[in-house]
Amino acid sequence: MNIEERLLTISHYCRSGERQNGIQKIVVHWVGNAGSSALGNRNYFNSLATSHKTSASSHYIIGLNGEVIRCIPENEVAFHSGSYSMNRKSIGIETCHPDWNGKFADSTYNSLVELCADICRRYNLTVNHIIRHYDVTGKDCPRYYVQNPNEWVKFKNDVAKKLGQATVSVAVEEMKGSDEPVKRYKNGSTKETIYADTGLTKVIGSLSPYEECDCFGIFNNRPMVRYKIDGTSNYKIGFAVWTGGVR
Ligand SMILES: [Zn+2]
Repeated sequence: MNIEERLLTISHYCRSGERQNGIQKIVVHWVGNAGSSALGNRNYFNSLATSHKTSASSHYIIGLNGEVIRCIPENEVAFHSGSYSMNRKSIGIETCHPDWNGKFADSTYNSLVELCADICRRYNLTVNHIIRHYDVTGKDCPRYYVQNPNEWVKFKNDVAKKLGQATVSVAVEEMKGSDEPVKRYKNGSTKETIYADTGLTKVIGSLSPYEECDCFGIFNNRPMVRYKIDGTSNYKIGFAVWTGGVR
């Protein structure tokens, strides 16, 4: 397929240059901006290198006419899923849509099927490795496939047909337990408040500057940490706010 390469500027806000830790998933997104173009979204990501407004990017953006732009090489991390560990092992695809129900135009859809099949082939993945952003963090993304899970099944089966793979009947493959290794969390230079919940409604403790502890991954964009209660040998588990401490 025809892919236009327009790589982003190296920057912690869109393209850190960090290497991927293998490719195990493809995460599909909608751009969440009706009628916007692939190039416009690509330029928005690139503008973050100077505006520093937020950190965001994806490897690919598929446009309203089915055009495909590569923003980040597949062997580098992109900031698309809201989870550091997922970003390190996945390829992110942003998809343009004409209106706010989020359904993709036929040419966009066809490119998405083709690109996903191509990535699956190259990394030995099945269609069960293709997931929605919603499946990572619960975000309403890509909206049309969150609200129409049967259409998501149909999409995955269109990719399966292209690959000559078995079709599927459910939107999300059953989880077989996590084999994610426990990570480390290293606090920055300021005290980090720890909450009981990802909604940050109940404070249960804090991490000192530069304190290190175990981290079990990122949930709803909050790192889950197990930290020592000051002056004891007991631990508590809670959620930090700063995601930059996850190692
Ligand atoms: Zn998304």
